[in-house]
Amino acid sequence: MIELKNVSKRYSGEVAIGPLNLRIPKGGITAMIGPNGAGKSTMLTMIGRLLDMDEGTIEIAGQDVQSTKSGHLAKVVSILRQENHFVTKLTVRQLIGFGRFPYTKGRITSHDEEVISKYIDFFRLEELQHRYLDELSGGQRQRAYVAMVLCQETEYVLLDEPLNNLDVAHSVEMMRHLKDAAQSLGRTIVVVLHDINFAARYADYICACKEGRIVEFGPTDEIIRDEILTSIFDTQVKVIEGPKGKIACYH
Ligand code: ADP
Ligand code: MG
Repeated sequence: MIELKNVSKRYSGEVAIGPLNLRIPKGGITAMIGPNGAGKSTMLTMIGRLLDMDEGTIEIAGQDVQSTKSGHLAKVVSILRQENHFVTKLTVRQLIGFGRFPYTKGRITSHDEEVISKYIDFFRLEELQHRYLDELSGGQRQRAYVAMVLCQETEYVLLDEPLNNLDVAHSVEMMRHLKDAAQSLGRTIVVVLHDINFAARYADYICACKEGRIVEFGPTDEIIRDEILTSIFDTQVKVIEGPKGKIACYH
């Protein structure tokens, strides 16, 4: 479980996030949704201890993120930020190998090579593994970054808009990979999603944010409802029953 208690963050000026109180259960996929500027990235980066909070506490699997040693926490939680995508002269395989850093401290063993290969296979990057990152499309690069984060093999995985740069087919494929990682690898995945319908289709729980606060949290079916979505996004949303579940339609 990830637990936030009275967490708040103040940026310069009048922008304030929180107080946030939230319990994300272990297992499955939790999607964070909400308008631009709602505070999703701020919350995720505080959980991933890349940003200090001003008040409150966050625990992941019972461990306080502020007081637990970062080397230890790096084996519990991994994070893909929305914008840290440095493009350098690294190959896909080398990038994914960075995910092993908490274990190897730079010295990759044959076991690490096996783990790296496993995630290259998992994300079907075999044919691209020796290409440099700047020789890939945005979508291929995005898959490589997500593979790197999963290669860290932490129980908790935080991903900020991993569908950025992906077309519909690759978005579906990415969500299937994440579902598979949650189910077959037993990961707890918290993912910021821009598109409500990807949340509706693949998430087990939804956390809805608006204006720096959490306005709803619950099982997906309870959140994907006309009145809730209309109020979160300040635009008319109608939910209909599609062939594979609920679909949110915008007016
Ligand atoms: P979201 O990910 O939901 O779009 P963010 O967490 O990025 O939202 O931003 C929440 C609010 O905090 C926004 O009003 C944004 O402008 C502000 N904010 C985010 N990062 C900073 C920063 N580094 N400095 C000042 N304000 C920021
Ligand atoms: Mg964001």
